[in-house]
Amino acid sequence: MVPYVRKSFAKHFLDGMKYLLNDGVLYDKDELTNTSIDSPLYKEQPVAYKYAMDMTEREVHQAVEGMYHNLNTLQSRSGNQLPFSSINYGTCALPEGRMITKALLEVSIEGLGKLHKTSIFPCGIFQMMKGVNREPGDPNYDLYRLALKSTAMRLYPNYANCDWSNAAGYDPNDPRTYFSTMGCRTANLTDINADPGVNPQMKDGRGNICPVTIILPTIAMEAKDSFVNEYWDDIPQLFLAMLDKKISEAKEMLLERFEYICSQPAESAKFMYENNLMLGYDGKTTRSALKHGTLAIGQLGLAECLQILIGKDHTTPEGMELAKKIEQLFKDRCAEFKKEYKLNFGVYYTPAESLCYTAMNKFKAKYGEIPNVSDREYFTNSMHVPVWREISPFEKIDIESQLTGYSSAGCITYVELEGGVKNNIDALETIVNYAMDHDVPYFAVNVPNDTCLSCGFTGEFNDSCPMCGSHNIQQLRRVTGYLTGNYKTAFNLGKQAETEDRVKHTGVMED
Ligand SMILES: [Zn+2]
Repeated sequence: MVPYVRKSFAKHFLDGMKYLLNDGVLYDKDELTNTSIDSPLYKEQPVAYKYAMDMTEREVHQAVEGMYHNLNTLQSRSGNQLPFSSINYGTCALPEGRMITKALLEVSIEGLGKLHKTSIFPCGIFQMMKGVNREPGDPNYDLYRLALKSTAMRLYPNYANCDWSNAAGYDPNDPRTYFSTMGCRTANLTDINADPGVNPQMKDGRGNICPVTIILPTIAMEAKDSFVNEYWDDIPQLFLAMLDKKISEAKEMLLERFEYICSQPAESAKFMYENNLMLGYDGKTTRSALKHGTLAIGQLGLAECLQILIGKDHTTPEGMELAKKIEQLFKDRCAEFKKEYKLNFGVYYTPAESLCYTAMNKFKAKYGEIPNVSDREYFTNSMHVPVWREISPFEKIDIESQLTGYSSAGCITYVELEGGVKNNIDALETIVNYAMDHDVPYFAVNVPNDTCLSCGFTGEFNDSCPMCGSHNIQQLRRVTGYLTGNYKTAFNLGKQAETEDRVKHTGVMED
């Protein structure tokens, strides 16, 4: 966006010279539009400079407000949903980029309209990078602080870790190669089909082509039921063999779907192909672009799977040991498939918005209610620590960060905090830094966000407003990676139950 800010700034500067100073100094307009707004060329005219700065800041702010408004009112996805949109930002240290990032955060903090409602889209993603925004003295540290303030109030932004070990190899001079996510969690890592001259960590123009999710608890039950001593040492060993077969089947499904998707002509998504939004498109086949995307092998319910296999989940050392074996198998197979088929297979920690519930229903119908496995309405999200576990945010990060390194197609780690965190930004910073330092690729914080639609009061109060008594309440929760208008109407019973079971990861403030 930097060139566009420069263009606006040059225009306002020339207006300032003309109308405020009536100055005859001639400037080359083309030269100005290519000049940093920090240039002495501008600063030697302090009156016009200040005018241009004020006008440009206002314009950028209004542009961001307009974008937020549009993204929260257009019903353009499947005809009845807001456009799922994510914006990664935070690393540009140029004055123009900083101005945009600041506006994005300020508008997020202000909220929408008269009632200052929390916006649902865009999903803001603050890209953390050492030497850029991590510490006091870094050029964008002030923006990180502003981001934390926004997170505490509005849940966004989330935090992407550009220093994540799996994101190595990016080009420090090309932000398009920095680790970024499609807000919910999807991420693209090294591209095996990178064209000559293109960095394999290029993110622009790539995406998740299709996912297949493996329901781990079902395979665990099948392993338990078919276990016979003389063939296998133990049930986990049999489980791993069965999982291996299932991963292979998932690969076959993905290959079939990939071929089908590639058989569609570019006209099926004309706008994307005509406007160069798809990396590598050769103007002939959609495959030329789609081969840069990710084929994701996902998983659901690691915690319940471990309970079935060994009676404990990965919050215990034994559970973690087996969890790592399971994730290593996913990782090894995806790496092999990637080489063999020359397509970007990756390990995906699936959000499973619907599947968490439908899979549980089918599981219960077959196996009944098993304590700690199927005595709830949903399976636990991917490899997450079960939401009902009472642990601190640091313990949650300690556990999940041991598994995030296996993922190559996207994952998210989040912690639940009290609404009061908005009065303790330092504590929030400690938690986000802790996640980054533990090599968590993508981190988010959940704080309760209920807004009274009569008076605009925001806090955690469920169904009646403590200020005016109104029952017209919007209850925002992050159910998966995104926010949802009202989780009680937007999500199935499984995700609603999960959201209500979530315990706050407290014990934070003492640290
Ligand atoms: Zn109210």
